[in-house]
Amino acid sequence: MPGAHFRFYEELNDFLPEQRKKTDFEAVFKDKRTIKDMIESIGVPHPEIDLILVNGKSVNFDYILRDKDRVSVYPTFESINIADVTRLKKRPLRKSRFIADINLRDIVRYMRAMGLDLYFDPSLPPRGIIEISKKEKRIILTKSKKLLKFKDVTHGIFLRPGSTEEQIRYVIDYLDIRMDVRPFSRCLGCNNPLENIQKQKIKDRIPPKTMAFCNKYSYCRRCDKIYWEGTHVFRMKKVIEKILGR
Ligand SMILES: [Zn+2]
Repeated sequence: MPGAHFRFYEELNDFLPEQRKKTDFEAVFKDKRTIKDMIESIGVPHPEIDLILVNGKSVNFDYILRDKDRVSVYPTFESINIADVTRLKKRPLRKSRFIADINLRDIVRYMRAMGLDLYFDPSLPPRGIIEISKKEKRIILTKSKKLLKFKDVTHGIFLRPGSTEEQIRYVIDYLDIRMDVRPFSRCLGCNNPLENIQKQKIKDRIPPKTMAFCNKYSYCRRCDKIYWEGTHVFRMKKVIEKILGR
């Protein structure tokens, strides 16, 4: 049977069994096999991959493997110049938008508190998540490799186990989107952008004590909710600073 030699780099090794991590190994295949199909059968979801070299030349996912090919597979590069080779993924969309699966409930409030656009609906099945991702150009955040292996997933990030802070920091660093962070600009409940609202307009809806010390209020038109800088905001600010490493 024909076989090709593979080597996976950096965090792509997380998907491999111990004996295949950070080393060359041979994998055999039958007939015509695309490189994408082969890599996924080895266990690495394709949205994690940014560059594949076969015998030193970059190829795309449709490349048909040949006997004795030497394949190097790399995760997303953010700072290395690889302009002269084929990038498999388009650059992150100018303003990154996200959709999280049900297992990431914990990161939702904090990502929204940072002003990041994150769609979340715990009732959505995997198919529904993919449909919204495609329609609204949202990057899928998930702890499920299975979800990222669906054929039509184009933008997805696999989140490894870790704390809420670590997972959000990973997403921000991975896409290099610190510039997009705008604390408390989005509704924590529904993801809608908040607007400023004058104190006078809402004075009968705010506790008198709050009224006395706080002058800045934001409003979510979609769920008719008012936000102001209370103690929970200070607590969240601390967590956000920690995520950003400030
Ligand atoms: Zn809202």
